[in-house]
Amino acid sequence: MSEIIQTEKITQLVNHGTSSGDIDAILNKALSLSRLELEEAAALLNVTDEETRNRIHHTAKMVKSSIYGNRLVIFAPLYISNLCKNDCAYCGFRVSNRGLKRKALSMEEITSETEHLLRTGQKRVLMVSGEAYPRDGLNYVLRSIDTIYNARVGEHGIRRINVNIAPVETDDFRRLREHNIGTYQLFQETYHKPTYHKLHTLGPKTDYDYRLNTIGRAFHGGIDDVGIGVLFGLYNWKYEVLSILSHVEYLEREFGMGPHTISVPRLEPATGSSISTKPPFEVTDEDFKLIISVLRLAVPYIGLILSTRETPEMRKAAFELGISQISAGSKTNPGGYGENDSCEQFSLGDHRSLDDVIYDVVSSGFIPSFCTSCYRLGRTGLDFMEFAKPGEIKKKCQPNALITFTEYLLDFASDKVKNAGMELIARELAETDPETAGKTKALIQIVRDGKRDVFV
Ligand code: SAM
Ligand code: SF4
Repeated sequence: MSEIIQTEKITQLVNHGTSSGDIDAILNKALSLSRLELEEAAALLNVTDEETRNRIHHTAKMVKSSIYGNRLVIFAPLYISNLCKNDCAYCGFRVSNRGLKRKALSMEEITSETEHLLRTGQKRVLMVSGEAYPRDGLNYVLRSIDTIYNARVGEHGIRRINVNIAPVETDDFRRLREHNIGTYQLFQETYHKPTYHKLHTLGPKTDYDYRLNTIGRAFHGGIDDVGIGVLFGLYNWKYEVLSILSHVEYLEREFGMGPHTISVPRLEPATGSSISTKPPFEVTDEDFKLIISVLRLAVPYIGLILSTRETPEMRKAAFELGISQISAGSKTNPGGYGENDSCEQFSLGDHRSLDDVIYDVVSSGFIPSFCTSCYRLGRTGLDFMEFAKPGEIKKKCQPNALITFTEYLLDFASDKVKNAGMELIARELAETDPETAGKTKALIQIVRDGKRDVFV
């Protein structure tokens, strides 16, 4: 098996990296939607002057637009349990945080949380849990997935559940697949082994290699839709970005396909964690923007996810740089949507309701999308990449965004959002080629006539 993270090369590029690479040539290569080499990504990460950074940002926006159009996929996390046997130094759920009120939701409570989300208009959920399940281990997770899918408010249900839970064995990935998960998401937290060992001192998560090999086990277990990421602030951000890219290269080399998404969480304050309030390697807002742009350019066909850890201002700036999925209206404590008082995992930067976030997204000229089409039609893994790599996917994303957004506007939006949203849809259709616009209008009319869950 080849090396997953090219540690020596990355260390060399971080320590002796140069920004002398021909930045224009690299940006032109990125515009052709080709993946960048580690050396090329390192040259972009080493840029410090504002003017060149702005050019990088501008190119990232163009690349995002040519792959996905101007749609932004919306989801919400659903925390089912904060029980955990690990002691990650940055997390409020760590086992040594004895003051934390612990809670694993019952199936009735999970139904109630899902109903709360459905009433706001959410259709995509990221199910999250600490690493300790009550009573029956992974069965608890599987029952939770079924419970979320089965919840209904009127004719509305959750159409896609992505999961962010601790690593499991290959057989258990098969079981997760049988329960129809969308993306299996797992962050390495830091790819820098000595830092990883310093921050993870207790519990199964102490095993760096087991965690690093998890995505491979997921693929072997038949899951073809995975997400990776790091927690920025734990170690040198250039090292982490290059390691993510090295991980992608490895997966593509070994399995013929890489991750569907990359997440870019930044460390936020959490109770019981002193390092969370004073990140050892703080990432400034300007560097964070560069991270997003470079990832967009280096792996143009991979979705980039931003959570409500970030403030509304940073989120707005990030939409322009290549973020393709955002969470909205989030709570990070089990039972949070029903105002349960168990402590949250970390504090949020964006506390706005889904409706308020949607207004902001629309005002910035982006189409909020509740689309779950690819997953429902089996367009995942290699099939998805066949569409995404040449930029073909936006022919599906754009109509589906407009159709699912219409459904949201008709059933859930405030008057203010409804007016702004309908105007945006009309503008978008006017700018779309006549054939696609005609087909999309016909599907939107079907939604207006009362049918729900329409997609192509
Ligand atoms: N327990 C599982 C695990 O650790 O892989 C999955 C769920 S964990 C709640 C999800 C993610 O939350 C972690 O992978 C970590 O990156 C992130 N996280 C933990 N503490 C955080 C903090 N203080 N600020 C921001 N994100 C944090
Ligand atoms: Fe537990 Fe995950 Fe938090 Fe670590 S990050 S303490 S494993 S919930």
